Amino acid sequence: MANNIDTAIKVKAVALDFDGVITNLDIDWNAAIRQASSIVGHDIKSLITFYENNFGTPIFQKVSTEMEKIELDALRKAQASPFIGEFLQKLSEKQVEVYIVSMQSFNVIKKFLEQHGLTGYFKGIIAREKCPSKKAQVECISKETRSSLNQILLVDDSKRNISNCKELGLVCFYFQRKQSSKETREAWNKILNLLGAT
Ligand SMILES: [Mg+2]
Repeated sequence: MANNIDTAIKVKAVALDFDGVITNLDIDWNAAIRQASSIVGHDIKSLITFYENNFGTPIFQKVSTEMEKIELDALRKAQASPFIGEFLQKLSEKQVEVYIVSMQSFNVIKKFLEQHGLTGYFKGIIAREKCPSKKAQVECISKETRSSLNQILLVDDSKRNISNCKELGLVCFYFQRKQSSKETREAWNKILNLLGAT
């Protein structure tokens, strides 16, 4: 997916996805979905769709709590993406507000940021307990920062999220989940370039 972005944009807030951008969680999602299916008593095809359709219900809470255990376990081995500290430092110098938008749990993300000394770089963590979809999450940032959606830059490794959020008018940057540290550094630099933050 090419990142052809209009460089004339004025971005006020950056929304970073967590798994696939800030870190890579090593989770067997097929096994996790089987476990979630056994909790609800029927087959779940996608956890994302399940969370969206069951937001605010007791079964959402039950599944979310069990999935959080798996996610917390994966944190033990999770590394921060290469050069993310430098990238976040440059964003903070540019005074861009940075958020995490993720379908992982709030506790998982909070704990990861603490473990890696990254907490102070983020204005907010918008996780599944607060908003049940990426679309709802970026709309929440738009409200909080009083920005229009075309002033928010989303960085995500999911083509589906990128395409949904592009439709909403967001500036989107597709981030490769698996790439060399050189490629990761180039991706951060491209993002900084389009924010005029280099
Ligand atoms: Mg992701």
